[in-house]
Amino acid sequence: MTPIDTSRVIIIGAGLAAQYAALKLAPRPVLMISPEALGEGASSAWAQGGVAAAMDPADSADAHARDTVAAGAGIVNRQVAQSVTAEAREHILDLTGLGTPFDRATDGTYVMSREAAHSFARVVRVRGDQAGAEIMRALTQQVRKADHIQVLEGVMATRIDVSEGRVAGVAVARCTGGQSESVILRGAAVLLAGGGSGGLFALTTNPPRIRGQVIGMAARAGAQIADAEFVQFHPTAMACGLDPAPLATEALRGEGAVLINRHGERFMVAAHPEAELAPRDIVARAVYAQTSASLAPALDTRAALGAKILTDFPAVADACRRAGLDPVTQPIPIAAAAHYHMGGVATDAAGQSSLAGLWACGEVASTGLHGANRLASNGLLEALVYGRRCALAIDEALPAPVQARQVTLPDLPMTDTPDPALVTQLRQAMTDGVGVIRNAESLTDTLAQIARIEAAQPDCETLLNMTAAATLIASAALKRRESRGAHFRSDFPNTKGEGSERSFLTLAEALAIRDAATIQKEPV
Ligand SMILES: Cc1cc2nc3c(=O)[nH]c(=O)nc-3n(C[C@H](O)[C@H](O)[C@H](O)COP(=O)(O)OP(=O)(O)OC[C@H]3O[C@@H](n4cnc5c(N)ncnc54)[C@H](O)[C@@H]3O)c2cc1C
Repeated sequence: MTPIDTSRVIIIGAGLAAQYAALKLAPRPVLMISPEALGEGASSAWAQGGVAAAMDPADSADAHARDTVAAGAGIVNRQVAQSVTAEAREHILDLTGLGTPFDRATDGTYVMSREAAHSFARVVRVRGDQAGAEIMRALTQQVRKADHIQVLEGVMATRIDVSEGRVAGVAVARCTGGQSESVILRGAAVLLAGGGSGGLFALTTNPPRIRGQVIGMAARAGAQIADAEFVQFHPTAMACGLDPAPLATEALRGEGAVLINRHGERFMVAAHPEAELAPRDIVARAVYAQTSASLAPALDTRAALGAKILTDFPAVADACRRAGLDPVTQPIPIAAAAHYHMGGVATDAAGQSSLAGLWACGEVASTGLHGANRLASNGLLEALVYGRRCALAIDEALPAPVQARQVTLPDLPMTDTPDPALVTQLRQAMTDGVGVIRNAESLTDTLAQIARIEAAQPDCETLLNMTAAATLIASAALKRRESRGAHFRSDFPNTKGEGSERSFLTLAEALAIRDAATIQKEPV
């Protein structure tokens, strides 16, 4: 089929990074690819805590940068941390101007939550746990009104189109009621804003669409991927049999909620001086250890919040209701679940990837801000900062904008979707072998399983995108023979001294790691 040409900038995804970038590209024409109805299906709308920003005069961007560097366990790019935290305030003011009703005190100052590993209460929030939903509601309204943005809803990207050494466009397919054959769209530039990869794991807090597909398609096109091994596991996903697992925000611990086990012991007190507010990776491993020892870890909000949880944390209260739990009288059962991918498409300070014509922002990107462990609520901040930087860089790289016609997709026949049984196997393999605690054997076995899953449906691009991302995560984890931040190896439990660095891999390099490891293990 002949490609469809457009002079619009093509944005893959429709979460916070995508929508903010699209607005900042005005008046340049944009085509946004949104698999779900605009504003739905993105992690952004599920964010509970809020956005980290030093808004209090007693706080500072420098202190925020220091906390970011400390949380990242030695491999945060300090310049990136300095510049991102310095921009935080203006983005909060901008979001406020765009209609986000952040919680304010009677004197107009922003109400701030305290989250783990922050030295100050510096997370701006909306009605307790409604930050993501309200930010996305405000932005979606603006995007719907904007003349320069066309949104293709019910459409997803399946492959990046590279022509003469640069990214020329993207293959897209309809995804409502199955998946159609794909058609190539060629645009002025391509911006990836397709989110993270938490849903590649069986136990996750991420929406069902967020399964590393967009990182995978960038890798399949040859883009360099950074820090793939660093996946953050959230310690307080609700263990109530729901997939995805609903999140009980860290802000609850900021309000004094405690972690207990079936004997009522506060196990974090012995584990870390900051107890429940220790860095997220430490709490996640402690919760995982309790689960593995059948000690039924739980979040107890009763004394700290009582019935206030119902009004102050409506998303958590609603998830409890769906799970048949009453948080006012019962502790909430919890487990550590894949939550945030620090790794992603390697970008420079302007969001440019290693491929000409391809930019990336939001969780799909790896900018060097998070290192081995993201500081709580720096995810939305990074999406805002790099969403705008990408928009400015793309605008500068292109000739002056011209009027663009609306793009219409032809009717396309339906085609094979990923076999759900293979996707289930892939997700279980990732949780079992590449989860909170990894080792050479579990990683090698998982890489072999990923290869078998891939070979079972080799023509399904959507599955290949997921297996590419999974291969990168497991190969990078196998290559890093130490424990650092969120990456914990039981066979290399120590952190190497100074001089450890971020990791950079192409898919070809990850496959070579996989082949070397799995061939060595094959019986002779
Ligand atoms: C439950 C939860 C709570 C969180 N709480 C916080 C918090 O309080 N503070 C914070 O800073 N961070 C939080 N995070 C992390 C934060 O929400 C994400 O890092 C951030 O929203 C990522 O934004 P994004 O725009 O990059 O991706 P997303 O918002 O995930 O958007 C990705 C978009 O890409 C689309 N997409 C996916 N695949 C394709 C495809 N093949 N083709 C086209 N489009 C595709 C999706 O449909 C979606 O529209 C939380 C995450 C979760 C899951």
